[in-house]
Amino acid sequence: MPLLVMKFGGTSVADLARIENAAEKVRREVERGYDVIVIVSAMSGKTNELVSWVEQTSKLYDAREYDAVVASGENISAGLMALRLQEMGVPARSWQGWQVPINTTSAHGSARFVSIPRDHLDAKFAEGFKVAVVAGFQGLSPEGRVTTLGRGGSDTTAVAFAAAFGAERCDIYTDVDGVYTTDPRITEKARKLDRIAFEEMLELASLGAKVLQTRSVELAMRYKVRLRVLSSFEDTDENSGTLVCDEEEIMESKVVSGVAYSRDEAKITLVTIEDRPGIAAAIFGPLAEAGVNVDMIVQNVSEKHMDGSTRAATDMTFSCPTNQVARAKKAMEDAAAAGSIRYADLIVDTDVAKVSVVGIGMRSHAGVAARMFDALAAENINIKVIGTSEIKISVLIDRKYMELAVQALHGVFELDKA
Ligand code: ADP
Ligand code: ASP
Ligand code: MG
Repeated sequence: MPLLVMKFGGTSVADLARIENAAEKVRREVERGYDVIVIVSAMSGKTNELVSWVEQTSKLYDAREYDAVVASGENISAGLMALRLQEMGVPARSWQGWQVPINTTSAHGSARFVSIPRDHLDAKFAEGFKVAVVAGFQGLSPEGRVTTLGRGGSDTTAVAFAAAFGAERCDIYTDVDGVYTTDPRITEKARKLDRIAFEEMLELASLGAKVLQTRSVELAMRYKVRLRVLSSFEDTDENSGTLVCDEEEIMESKVVSGVAYSRDEAKITLVTIEDRPGIAAAIFGPLAEAGVNVDMIVQNVSEKHMDGSTRAATDMTFSCPTNQVARAKKAMEDAAAAGSIRYADLIVDTDVAKVSVVGIGMRSHAGVAARMFDALAAENINIKVIGTSEIKISVLIDRKYMELAVQALHGVFELDKA
């Protein structure tokens, strides 16, 4: 039997009526002759609620118990989806992560897949079941405990199942009808893309476009999964939505194909540190050990010198997610107390956001950075930090200008035009 993976996100299973709507889409694929693996998220808002319950109960919570609580939202959706399908006459069974079992690492809160054995699901399909409904976002650690994959992780569950079971396609049903040139909630000029290259989607996701979890795109790219994003609220067919595919399958190619933003960024500056070999290692080593995901880094020539001496000094600025600032600060204070670094001041700015332009065309076109900086200057937006790679340019700016920056960049790169 040909097999499809269909994933429904939180808003697509937000209440019983929406679960019925999603189940209807599954039934249609079964009628077309497919066996289906359905991956479900928790009902929308549920995971946030569970996370806040954990945080209210225990500030420095045990990550194993965080996972035990937070994974439960998906269990409810999975059981309800299986029941709804049965009511429609479709033979369906639900599976929690441990039952499959979805084997992951023991990195609680951000576990990675190790293996997904097929035997249990294959046996059920062989018995005549048409649909296996699997709870997204969760797995089982080698120690036998429940793990979760990081926020948005059900996308990754879906792609992993598509790879493990050789699915014809992995369809991600969500509350927008595809991947847009930027978040359609930020500008109504955002345009839906029929296709987007894996590399571009990977950058957009990692730079904040939460329509797909970054890791899901990575897996799809590695295992050549045909990955599609489409609406669960509209009638859809084989041509609906956005196909994430190889660069070679795309005709239209613009220099810049999308704009992404990330709201929850923080900027930390160590003022007046020694300018000597090994200083960066002495700073970023402890940050890595503390689990801080450092993103952009700049080193400036400082106006000051160390302790009034003639020894060269410098300032080091880096960005990280807002919720890691406390950990970053502590790592720096501990390193200073241990004597491995010295700084005159540590300045934290939590009112920043990152805005990025992405496009594989940048590999062969010069001048994108200049156009981007011009557009921001025209809006009087000050750039605090710049980061680049082969196919993206990111800037850190004051958060209050984030929407404006996205709109300006969307306009200047003419993303509203096909
Ligand atoms: P789900 O609950 O289905 O997983 P998410 O909320 O995780 O849905 O992702 C869908 C959301 O991603 C959309 O509602 C949209 O606001 C946001 N988004 C951000 N960037 C983009 C983009 N470039 N294209 C489409 N949606 C985007
Ligand atoms: N429910 C989880 C979250 O909200 C996983 C997901 O929806 O993908 O992050
Ligand atoms: Mg999501």
